[in-house]
Amino acid sequence: MITVKAFEDNFIHLGEYEAGKAWVVDPGEYEAVMDVLKSRSLELTTVLVTHHHWDHVGGVLKLKEHTGCEVIGPEASLVKGLDRIVRDGECVAIGSARFEVMATPGHTRTSVCYCGTEGHGEQVALTGDTLFIGGCGRLLEGSGAQMYESLMRLARLPDETLVCCGHDYTVENLEFALTIEPDNVHVREQLRLARQSPLCHSTIGQEKLSNVFLRAGSVQEFARRRKLKDVF
Ligand SMILES: [Zn+2]
Repeated sequence: MITVKAFEDNFIHLGEYEAGKAWVVDPGEYEAVMDVLKSRSLELTTVLVTHHHWDHVGGVLKLKEHTGCEVIGPEASLVKGLDRIVRDGECVAIGSARFEVMATPGHTRTSVCYCGTEGHGEQVALTGDTLFIGGCGRLLEGSGAQMYESLMRLARLPDETLVCCGHDYTVENLEFALTIEPDNVHVREQLRLARQSPLCHSTIGQEKLSNVFLRAGSVQEFARRRKLKDVF
């Protein structure tokens, strides 16, 4: 897995699934992705889109124009350039990489995550703006109940699953988490590490220990924590 930063705090993740061939998820910025492709002599074959926000799709059309890649995502009316519209439970095979599409409404109405193997057998979850390291996305289109169910589906993935999310909000998320669970040693340790240097990935097992949204225990408590975080 290759992770690059874009804009202020976006993560863009790429996977080289065969020698010289790569997929990318949520390429908000064209240049950031092209730089990686050029420096590593990679051919981009596939773009995966988790949701329609500009900072996740801003580079899609230019990448398609310059590389001829296939663009896969939910909701064609909101994402320009889609070649394949995917729904919950569908399989996306990209060479040796295999992802299952998981509908995860909440941040937006049609957000999806891609969960599977990135090309070398490692389990990954490409979570967009649904699950962050230590946090979760804002409820811009969906309800608290939808988002909580989406997070619980992600929590049922194997603990070793690598979490690749759309933004580096980690330090702020974990500072908020300490207001909810001040004695959680896992939150404190993650925060210490994130302050040293940005964390590009987490795991489902780690998030179950240190993400206070996954740990809410009920929809009501999740909604309460989400409201508190909105004004943190
Ligand atoms: Zn978003």
